[in-house]
Amino acid sequence: MTFAAVMTFLKKISPLMNLGDKELEILSTPENVLQAELDVNGKKYPAYRVQFNSARGPYKGGIRYHPEVDLDEVKSLAFWMALKTAVADIPLGGGKGGITVNPKELSVSEIEELSRKFVRAFYEHLGPRKDIPAPDVYTTPQIMAWMRDEFEKITGESAPGMITGKPLELGGSLVRDIATALGGVYVLEEAMDKLSLKEKTVAIQGFGNAGMNAAKLLIERGFTIVAVSDSKGGIYNKEGVDIDAVINTKKESGSVIHYSNAEKITNEQLLSIGCAVLVPSALSDAITKDNASNVKAKIIVELANGPTTTEADEILHSKNVLVLPDILANAGGVTVSYFEWVQNNTNDYWDEELIKTRLKEKMVTAFNGIWQLYSQNDHDFRTNTYMIAITKILTAERLRGRI
Ligand code: NAD
Repeated sequence: MTFAAVMTFLKKISPLMNLGDKELEILSTPENVLQAELDVNGKKYPAYRVQFNSARGPYKGGIRYHPEVDLDEVKSLAFWMALKTAVADIPLGGGKGGITVNPKELSVSEIEELSRKFVRAFYEHLGPRKDIPAPDVYTTPQIMAWMRDEFEKITGESAPGMITGKPLELGGSLVRDIATALGGVYVLEEAMDKLSLKEKTVAIQGFGNAGMNAAKLLIERGFTIVAVSDSKGGIYNKEGVDIDAVINTKKESGSVIHYSNAEKITNEQLLSIGCAVLVPSALSDAITKDNASNVKAKIIVELANGPTTTEADEILHSKNVLVLPDILANAGGVTVSYFEWVQNNTNDYWDEELIKTRLKEKMVTAFNGIWQLYSQNDHDFRTNTYMIAITKILTAERLRGRI
C-alpha cells in the first residue's frame, strides 16, 4: 500500500482523536530515512532502512528482499510497525528495511554478500539498543545469522540481540516460526467468543509462513478449511480440504492447485466463498471496493500487511463484517521477536509452553482493550485499534517533551 494511502487513513481518523498539526506531523514523518546502494558483482541494489518512531523504545521491524521494494513501501511498513508494537504493548518502536532485489536470481553466496553489505552500510544505526531488524518477505533465519555475524565482526562484541528471527542455534527463539499465525488464531478465538460465532469454516488466501501455519493451527482446533490459495490460484471443497495432503501437494508440485479432491477457484473467487472466517495471508490491497461487497465471512483475520483498502473497510463495516486488522492480527510475529530479544539480553532462554502462554496473554489483552473501546462507539475495529496505538505513541512523545 502506498504511503499516501496509509496517510489518508490517518487523516481520516485524526478528527476523532482531535489530533493537532504537531501530532499529525510526528505520526506522518519518519525519524530517519537511511538509503544506500549495495554492489554485488558489479550490480547495484538500492537498500533502505526507515526508522519511523522510537518514542516507546528502539526501532523494530523486518527487512524485505523483493524486486518491487521501494522507499515508499518501506515507509508504509515502518509506520505500521510503530503502531503494531504499541498495540502489542511491547517496549519497542517501529522501523522497516528493504532491498530492491529478486533473491531468486542470486546465488547463495551473492545473497550472503548482499546481506553483509546491508549491515556494513547501516551498522552505525543498528544494535540491540538502537534498531533491531528481523526477517520479512524472502529473508530467512540464515540471512539473520549472516547479519549478526557481520555486525559482530565490525563492532568486535557479541550482540545476539541486534537482530531477531535467528536460527535457534544462534540465539533464536522457540515458536518464532509459527508466531504470526498463532497470534492471529488467539485473537480469532476471542473474537468468535465475543460474537458467539459457532460456525468454524475458513478460507485462507496465501499459503506461505502465515497462511500455511494458520491452516495447521486451525485444523488442530477443530476448524474446517474450505478453501486455500497461493500465487497460482486456489482450491475449494465445502466439506473441507485435507491440509496435510495440500501441504504435500504444494511441496511436491509447487502449488496448492494440484490438490485433487477440490474444485479449482481463482484468488478473487476465494474472497467470496461462503465461510465464517476469511484469512488474507498474501498480498496487500487484496480486498477492495470492487470485491468487498461479495465477502460472505463474518470475521476477517488480516495476517497479511495491508490486505484491505480503506474503501473496502467501509463496505465491510456496513455489512457488519468484523475485520481484525493487521496491526493486531499479525502482531504475534513481532511479539515473539520481542521475546527473542529479551532472551538474548538476559541470557535466559524460555521453553515453548512459557512462550505460548506469554504470547496468548499479550494477544488476548490487546484484543480485549480494543474490544472494550469498540463496544463504546460506532467506529470500525481498525479505527479503534489505530486510536489505541496512536494514543500510546503520543503519550510517550508527550512524556519525553517532544510535543
Ligand atoms: P511467504 O512468502 O511465506 O508466503 C506468501 C504466500 O502468498 C505464498 O504462498 C504465495 O504463493 C502467496 N501469494 C503470492 N502472491 C499471491 C497472489 N497474487 N494471490 C494469492 N497468494 C499469493 O510470506 P509470509 O511470511 O507468509 O507473509 C505473507 C503476508 O503476511 C505478507 O503480507 C507479510 O508481510 C505478512 N506478515 C508475515 C509475518 C511473518 O512472520 N511471516 C509477520 C507479519 C506479517
